[in-house]
Amino acid sequence: MSMRFEHENFPQRVVFASNEAARSVATEVRRLEAQRVMVIAGKPERELADHIAADIPEALRYEDIAMHVPIEVAERARVAAESHNIDAIVSVGGGSTTGLAKAIALTSGLPIVAVPTTYAGSEATNVWGLTQGAKKTTGADMGVLPKSVVYDASLMISLPVPLSVASGLNALAHCVDSMWAPRSNPINRVFAAEGIRALNIGLPTVVADPRGVEGREFALYGAYLSAVAFASAGSGLHHKICHVLGGKYDLPHAQTHAIVLPYVLALNAPAAVDDERRMADAFVAESAVEGLERLRSRTDAPRALRDYGFEREQIPSAAEAILLVVPESNPVSVSKQDIERLLDAAWSGTEPQ
Ligand code: NAD
Repeated sequence: MSMRFEHENFPQRVVFASNEAARSVATEVRRLEAQRVMVIAGKPERELADHIAADIPEALRYEDIAMHVPIEVAERARVAAESHNIDAIVSVGGGSTTGLAKAIALTSGLPIVAVPTTYAGSEATNVWGLTQGAKKTTGADMGVLPKSVVYDASLMISLPVPLSVASGLNALAHCVDSMWAPRSNPINRVFAAEGIRALNIGLPTVVADPRGVEGREFALYGAYLSAVAFASAGSGLHHKICHVLGGKYDLPHAQTHAIVLPYVLALNAPAAVDDERRMADAFVAESAVEGLERLRSRTDAPRALRDYGFEREQIPSAAEAILLVVPESNPVSVSKQDIERLLDAAWSGTEPQ
């Protein structure tokens, strides 16, 4: 069979250097020739932001951040950026903080320098998300892709171990889902497999030595690769399921991804033989399912949706919503019953079959 695919690389600078965030950010801001920078960082990240923003022309510090970017939060931030004549944004934080920067960029075109402090990966995608009430809307727009990303693994040392594990598994989910997402291709599969390899080394090292930079670096490198793969491949079944669960039932983002992933992998792996082998190799395991299970045990990963506020009675309505968005590219066809079974197992945290 001849090889045939389409692939798009996103134009973005990436600077990866531990303990150098302040210097790297100053250089990236200079490259943009920015004079009035809005620094977005939540209160918990204030100290990190103070350090990072030390050498840039900061005109506004902004701390009003909320998960999933409620539209009114975005509107307030847009007004603040405009009234302060901002010409660039530096975001310091996880996916929620990057998300707010993207919401401003969406309407203003302001360039973003993103400094991630979790493994969520939003910084490497052109996807924005906004919520109005309980409805989350997402879209793709190259205007929201950060111009530069500054990765500094030392910024993750303050991220508590359980959140590091959940966030790292969120990154791993980008890799696994990239194997069968709608725009999956041989290029993003390479990024995804290397992402799995790095996260499989990094996350147990973070658990064993949370204050060490080595594990954080592996995990962050893996998270970047995962985000590049995901940005290119798009949302597969796993992301569609988590999007419904997060949006409709307000479940926490990283933990939901961490819990649901093994069930989607177990469902799809038998029908994706080459990708299964590639993932098993990356995990250095007999099978991909076994590799992921071993990683989850070693990192004491979150196991059951019922621990995060999802009710068993919500399974039928969730399955109905998910059935409408199952990607055509999924390696197995899925019925409502399949999804209900998957959600029931994820709800109770039973062994993935
Ligand atoms: P988050 O940004 O909400 O952060 C979770 C918590 O961790 C917060 O309380 C935050 O203050 C804290 N935190 C972050 N970094 C820390 C650090 N270094 N030390 C201590 N505490 C720290 O969570 P998230 O999982 O990073 O992001 C989730 C959001 O990102 C969701 O809204 C999701 O939809 C979005 N997202 C978007 C994309 C995309 O491509 N657009 C990709 C991934 C995630």
